[in-house]
Amino acid sequence: MEPNTSTVAAGLKKVRAHITEIAGKAGRQAGEITLLAASKTNPAERLREAFVAGQTVFGENYLQEALVKIDALKDLPIEWHFIGPIQSNKTRRIAENFAWVHSVDRKKIAERLSKDRPEALPPLQICLQVNVSGEDSKSGVAPEEVADLAAHVAELPRLRLRGVMAIPELTKFTALQRSQFRMLKEAYDQLKQSGYDVDTISMGMSEDLELAIQEGATMVRIGTAIFGPRRYPIPEELVRQAQP
Ligand SMILES: *Cc1c(COP(=O)(O)O)cnc(C)c1O
Repeated sequence: MEPNTSTVAAGLKKVRAHITEIAGKAGRQAGEITLLAASKTNPAERLREAFVAGQTVFGENYLQEALVKIDALKDLPIEWHFIGPIQSNKTRRIAENFAWVHSVDRKKIAERLSKDRPEALPPLQICLQVNVSGEDSKSGVAPEEVADLAAHVAELPRLRLRGVMAIPELTKFTALQRSQFRMLKEAYDQLKQSGYDVDTISMGMSEDLELAIQEGATMVRIGTAIFGPRRYPIPEELVRQAQP
């Protein structure tokens, strides 16, 4: 059954209340935490429902799918964030269509995004994705290489370094998960101590929101808890329309 309009609005309301509650208990202000709606696999109409319910920041993982929605929703002042893995042949359209990219993990991609960012747009806002789980299969720069990548990104004219992002290992072991969030917070603190003007720690998803906020997240990326369970594979019509 398709969830109806009120489901998206209700999901958002619940998540916002949850963020306020967790932040309060952690001695933080809910206003310090930006909610990004991770909207992959959801059609444009459901994003529009979220927008009507006050949500303006959306994150997408797959370029083709995202372009369909960006076009369908171009009448709305949405801030689009790219949060998925980046192939080098996709940088131009990412740089043209998004305000932020959370998943920069190598110099080559950073260079291409800078070169491809149109002059007419503000600089592309960048988070460095850090591999905090040490799993080989995961994207992200190793924690010990963050400083080097940050120095490179900071030199690129059309990028603006905002902070760090991670997708910790999905585990039931709270202590392990907490240590991975801490690793990201430490990477952020080191950037700050090195003099970078950063303000963003992008961590926390539906399942680990609470820990992420306790450990200092300033941007949480929430999908399922807002939109309900995802449908895989991505609906054909979402991908097909985006082909040139
Ligand atoms: C899908 C996704 C999310 C949201 O995940 P949920 O568990 O549905 O909240 C957050 N970040 C990234 C990078 C994602 O791909």
